Amino acid sequence: MSSNIGQNYPYSSETEAERSAAVDAILAAHDGLADTIAAETTPLGDEARWWTWRCRKRGCGGVVHAAGYARENRAVFVVCDVCGSTSLR
Ligand SMILES: [Zn+2]
Repeated sequence: MSSNIGQNYPYSSETEAERSAAVDAILAAHDGLADTIAAETTPLGDEARWWTWRCRKRGCGGVVHAAGYARENRAVFVVCDVCGSTSLR
């Protein structure tokens, strides 16, 4: 078993309203991130709830939120609410 597999488990979940408010705040705080997400994702569907995960960046401690579906992978494109880093889940 991979040593980092635990990091793939969701941290919690949130409602669509919570998710969109969190992502709006992240985009407002990080210049250029909205452009990155527009370029790399397609819009999320209308799920009622979304998973959240712990940020993988060492020492960050943030929570990552779904921002869209990755265009080139069957994955969710996520952004961290502390450091603004992006990754796929
Ligand atoms: Zn982070």
